[in-house]
Amino acid sequence: MATYTQNDSEEKILKDLGIDDSFRDTLATVDDKGKRIWLFPKKPFGYFYKLRSYVSYILLAFMIGIPFIQVNGHPIFLLNVVERKFIVFGMVFWPQDFHLVAIGFITFLIFIILFTVIFGRVWCGWVCPQTIFMEMIFRKVEYWIEGDATNQKKLAEQPWNEEKILKRTAKHFLFLAISFVLAHIALAWIVGVEQVSKNFTTPPFQNLGGFIPMVVSTLVIYGIYIRFREQMCTTFCPYGRLQGVILGNDTMVVAYDYKRGEPRGKVKDKEAKHLGDCIDCNLCVKVCPTGIDIRHGTQLECVNCTACIDACDDIMTKLDRPKKLIGFHSIESIETGKKFRLSARQKAYSVLMVLVLGVSFALGFLRTDVQSTVLRAPGTLYYKNDDGTISNLYKVQILNKTFEEIPFVITTDFENARIELVGNHKEINTLPPSERTELMFFVFIPRAQINQLSTKVKIFVQSPDGKNLDKDKTTFLGPMTKK
Ligand code: SF4
Ligand code: SF4
Repeated sequence: MATYTQNDSEEKILKDLGIDDSFRDTLATVDDKGKRIWLFPKKPFGYFYKLRSYVSYILLAFMIGIPFIQVNGHPIFLLNVVERKFIVFGMVFWPQDFHLVAIGFITFLIFIILFTVIFGRVWCGWVCPQTIFMEMIFRKVEYWIEGDATNQKKLAEQPWNEEKILKRTAKHFLFLAISFVLAHIALAWIVGVEQVSKNFTTPPFQNLGGFIPMVVSTLVIYGIYIRFREQMCTTFCPYGRLQGVILGNDTMVVAYDYKRGEPRGKVKDKEAKHLGDCIDCNLCVKVCPTGIDIRHGTQLECVNCTACIDACDDIMTKLDRPKKLIGFHSIESIETGKKFRLSARQKAYSVLMVLVLGVSFALGFLRTDVQSTVLRAPGTLYYKNDDGTISNLYKVQILNKTFEEIPFVITTDFENARIELVGNHKEINTLPPSERTELMFFVFIPRAQINQLSTKVKIFVQSPDGKNLDKDKTTFLGPMTKK
């Protein structure tokens, strides 16, 4: 065996060993002049593609249907980032609940990361809206108009004749129309169906706030799917960039079993040359929507769409060889030949994932419907009253987070204390739905019970039957002496 010194270049060593990893220096979709290589992925087919289609249809139905589902006249989901108002499963989250929204978002990120550590980029290939729209909507329309990969390539290369003009016009028109629909659905998730429907009932110049976002999002979606496509995943998406630090040798990913497949070669040479199972048909590369060769190993561009598994399984079936030459494997399981098993790290992550989800759900469901904030009236101290009490003036802000009116009273548990709302605030006894109510009130405490400058008191917002809706702590000021 050859020996090497430090002066030998990595390139030379790899060449001697017959390892070509030049693919690591380039992007599959960029040529050596830096020009984009347009991909024409072959139409996928097979078990996983069917399964993925069903999953996509369910997710698309969810995405399109949810903005139309209303409970008591309010959407069941609303992610209004503009007004910072969120409705999740019919529960309204206000800016005051921002910590819960932030926790929910962090939980989602942790969940995705932990899930990726165990199951790789299943999210990308199966659940991510970018992939679902690209592969299950736009790509299917493209196959329908232009045909499979070979026909698409032929059409792209041929001069602008009648056929090309007709097909390309139809494609652009349909892509634009679908983008228009998707933009409205995305906006309906943010501002609600009623708001979005104004785009159809109000002239644009009277509805610029709705019209401009609709035009911008339609054009952005159209631009992504007509031009940008797989580059969203391979160069733009930050989640994709994180794969290098998230994936481990024990992660289950779409991988090529090189131990079984190599050395690759023609079917007829298998016996004579002691070849592996890969017949080098390149079908796995031809179906890949990101243009990579999975036989080079796990790569950043792989979105785990499983198209290559289906393609290779089909070849293996035709050759009467076992499936899963490309399949869901971990690098470790390929190297050791053992079945994929959850490692201790993955088990610990799974427990953590369940815990984080549990805590988030608990925080969401334990959230109160009413939130009060009590503050001392600015610039006031205390009043000595003729009836032998000391009083302090407070301001309370009460937010009713529900869509219902809530009857209420303000109380304190301080012994012998009394609360009186100020002036016409006395007439207010219900909290209007989804609104903030501001009130001023006095707390009266017998002077004999006050013997320090500042006494802690609790203020409760209660329902008339005495159920606590929310509580606050504040200070009650009084004279040092009881006289
Ligand atoms: S589809 Fe399977 S047999 Fe064909 S090149 Fe890819 S890995 Fe080899
Ligand atoms: S390598 Fe296979 S799983 Fe990965 S993106 Fe390409 S076709 Fe999909």
